Amino acid sequence: MSDIERADTLPDSRAKAGRGQVPIRGIDGVQMLEPVYCANCGCRAGFATESESLTFIFALCDDCGRTAGIIDESGKLTPDEKHWRHIKQEQIDVYGRELSAEELRTVVDSDTSPLATLIKKGR
Ligand SMILES: [Zn+2]
Repeated sequence: MSDIERADTLPDSRAKAGRGQVPIRGIDGVQMLEPVYCANCGCRAGFATESESLTFIFALCDDCGRTAGIIDESGKLTPDEKHWRHIKQEQIDVYGRELSAEELRTVVDSDTSPLATLIKKGR
C-alpha cells in the first residue's frame, strides 16, 4: 500500500443526512440548506446548499482558520487530493513521468490499465 493510499482524508464538515436542514425560498422554489460545522472545534461554520454534485465540504471556523498550518500539520488530504495524487503516482510508476492531457485521454479511451481504471472510477 502506497503512502497515498494510507493517507487519511479530511472529515466532511456536514451533519449526517438530513439533520439540521433549513428550507429557503429562492427563484427556483424551495431549496434546503444544510449546516456546516468546523472540522476542528465542531462549532457552526455556516450553511451549504444541498446538492447531489456537492460531494465533500471541509470547513474551519474563523478562529480555527486563523491557526496557521492546521491542515498541513494534520497531513490529511481532501478526497479529491487523495484521488489525484494516486493518479499522479500511478503515472510516475508506470511511465516515469506525468502524462499530458492528450496522453491521458488516449489511455482512458483505449486502455484497460490500472491507470485508466483509476481515472474512470473517480474518487
Ligand atoms: Zn473551529
